[in-house]
Amino acid sequence: MLDALGRLRETFPDADALLVTQPANVRYLSGFRAPEDGRVLVTHGDAVLITDGRYHAQAEAESRLPVEFSDESWLEHLKGKLGGRTLAFEAEAVTYALFEQLTEKLEHEPLPTEGLVAALRLIKSPAETELLRQAAGVTDDAFSHILSFIRAGRTEVEVALELERFMRAAGTEGAGFEIIVASGVRSAMPHGTASSKVIAAGELVTLDFGAKVEGYHADMTRTIAVGTLSDAHAQLYGAVLGAQMAALGVLAPGKKGQEVDAAARDSLTAAGLGERFSHSLGHGVGLEIHEGPRLSKLSEQLLEPGMSVTIEPGAYIPGDAGVRIEDLAVMTERGFELLSRSPKDLIGV
Ligand code: ZN
Ligand code: ZN
Repeated sequence: MLDALGRLRETFPDADALLVTQPANVRYLSGFRAPEDGRVLVTHGDAVLITDGRYHAQAEAESRLPVEFSDESWLEHLKGKLGGRTLAFEAEAVTYALFEQLTEKLEHEPLPTEGLVAALRLIKSPAETELLRQAAGVTDDAFSHILSFIRAGRTEVEVALELERFMRAAGTEGAGFEIIVASGVRSAMPHGTASSKVIAAGELVTLDFGAKVEGYHADMTRTIAVGTLSDAHAQLYGAVLGAQMAALGVLAPGKKGQEVDAAARDSLTAAGLGERFSHSLGHGVGLEIHEGPRLSKLSEQLLEPGMSVTIEPGAYIPGDAGVRIEDLAVMTERGFELLSRSPKDLIGV
């Protein structure tokens, strides 16, 4: 992390200090688990976490950085610390109201920056990769478990609760994002979070979920069949699986995000489903469920060892059904390590 701070300091040469307020960035730099109530001030000489008295014991225990506690107002504390030196801030994470408060309090207009900490977070350290690996492992275990729980007659919410219960009982922080359980016609909604709908025989069910370990998210999607599927739905599944395998076939360091996206998109287009793949292929995952790099039609991002990526093509036919298959992988020197290990052949329960 000292290394990360050193690299970060090189990115704001025009200011004396950088104020980090984006919660995932605060957690990344400090390790503090209540980052919404903290901010990190990085100067060219030191770095501190600033929070308030509610977090005395917690912040001292969790933070890798020295902790300072502001009494009344952290803005006043910041002013005292800066003593007239110039400040840069994260434009994505500072509201206009806070910008005005900073300007008034510091008596100078702070300098906007974009994506400085996000650029560091793009490349996962071995320790971060291990947390992603652990989260993905529990996610696999939860999928294996849920196969004996799902059946016609259960509701989507019952399935989501059982996944959540399993992941918490396994010692993780639970579900990292709202679990998607989308059955039958609802499977045509890419973001169909679990509803009270009863799962029926003959339906496809899409499960998109992931455990969280020390703030690091897993993200996996599997679509399964309950009972016997129609031929059309089995073909739809086969086409999406073909696209997912095609994307994994080209995934490698040095490729652009758009090249990997195109492999899946071309495969679905050849199957007559290009128009049904209505989102991008994938995204990075870490302290946030969606972060860089992007794997999309327009992404010129070059993939590098240490980046995490999801590979998640889907095809959605409104009023009928949908399929998505998503794996989480980490780029290596020569290729990638697949962190999602759950089977992908069509599973019927
Ligand atoms: Zn997902
Ligand atoms: Zn995803």
